[in-house]
Amino acid sequence: MAKRSLSSLSSEDLSGKRVLVRVDFNVPVNEQSLITDDTRIRAALPTINDLVSKGAKVILSAHFGRPKGKVNESMRLTPVSERLSQLLGKKVLKTDSCIGDDAQSTVQSMANGDVVLLENVRFFSEEESNDPRFAKKLSSLADVYVNDAFGAAHRSHASTEGVTKYLSPSVAGYLMQKELQYLQGAIDAPKRPLAAIVGGSKVSSKIGVLESLLDKCDKILIGGGMIFTFYKARGLSVGKSLVEEDKLELANELETKAAEKGVQLLLPSDVVLADDFSPNSNSKIVDINSINEGWMGLDIGPNSVNDFQKALSDCQTVIWNGPMGVFEFEKFANGTNAIATTLAALSKKGCCTIIGGGDSVAAVEKAGLADEMSHISTGGGASLELLEGKVLPGVAALDEE
Ligand code: ADP
Ligand code: MG
Repeated sequence: MAKRSLSSLSSEDLSGKRVLVRVDFNVPVNEQSLITDDTRIRAALPTINDLVSKGAKVILSAHFGRPKGKVNESMRLTPVSERLSQLLGKKVLKTDSCIGDDAQSTVQSMANGDVVLLENVRFFSEEESNDPRFAKKLSSLADVYVNDAFGAAHRSHASTEGVTKYLSPSVAGYLMQKELQYLQGAIDAPKRPLAAIVGGSKVSSKIGVLESLLDKCDKILIGGGMIFTFYKARGLSVGKSLVEEDKLELANELETKAAEKGVQLLLPSDVVLADDFSPNSNSKIVDINSINEGWMGLDIGPNSVNDFQKALSDCQTVIWNGPMGVFEFEKFANGTNAIATTLAALSKKGCCTIIGGGDSVAAVEKAGLADEMSHISTGGGASLELLEGKVLPGVAALDEE
């Protein structure tokens, strides 16, 4: 199911052509609307630069925030167009609307190699409802379609799916291609042993991933808040730790399934407890059989880190989704940081390390280890759905190789 890539289109195919490129520019901003992390903008540069150098007219489409189908002045893409302009070292024109007269006339005035950014596509409710008339209007601006917005590929929206019905060819940009190569590659044809480290807060948000990974992985290491649901299901006391009472049976089932499939499912042997959910709470390290009443587990303990390191040491591919503890509080970031350091060392030895999930990526970046990993996904939700084995509509709609 390999998808056709932008690399298959030459200057001859693209020179003078209007190319609609869906990008993921949904960057974090502060109260002053200043961009605090431009990773997603930088991640689209290989695609944009390639199109510019092949003489295409590059028409970028993106969403920003949740304007709920209405124009919202604070969610305009102006700061993004300015940052993109700096990064490209060339002027980027921004339209006031993604469709209509302004967009049409701006595109008509483009020279080969020009870059235009269309205003927030989610200012129209027709984007998220994937209205065919809206998709047709958007696509009337262009000849060719490139989807480089991996972070939005799990949505069947007009700019990610609808436009492919009107534009041909429809191909994957370089970021999209790289994301699929790593994430899809890791589950379809990994170098083994393949391990998944799954953490985060809740079992409920990771059920799909855990079930799907049970069929693919040799080892699954579980950390984060969800471990207490597994412990409680085993009959252990968990104090005030996060527990999903309605998922106890499921936790048992997952352990049984893993045993049946011969997958090593590893839970932490010790945890770091806190007497309060706060950065300055009292803390102590205990064995999982001795969790105190009134205390809550906010991180995995040092013995667990050791066990996890041992289990990972012979792995050739490791996928990590979800932090090991409440890494936002320094006191409870050790488990997460230790796993990040372990993966960085494994990468050096040739292991393929893949980080997916918004908070896991943030944790690795906070630890200053992002550059050490084989792949850091730009799409939290999309990477989760891919690991769950779901079809991403924005990918499915692209031309086959
Ligand atoms: P990702 O975005 O990487 O997929 P999630 O969103 O599933 O990760 O989970 C991240 C959150 O899980 C973090 O905010 C972290 O504080 C929380 N978390 C991790 N361990 C615990 C715990 N033991 N108790 C409560 N929350 C936890
Ligand atoms: Mg998250």
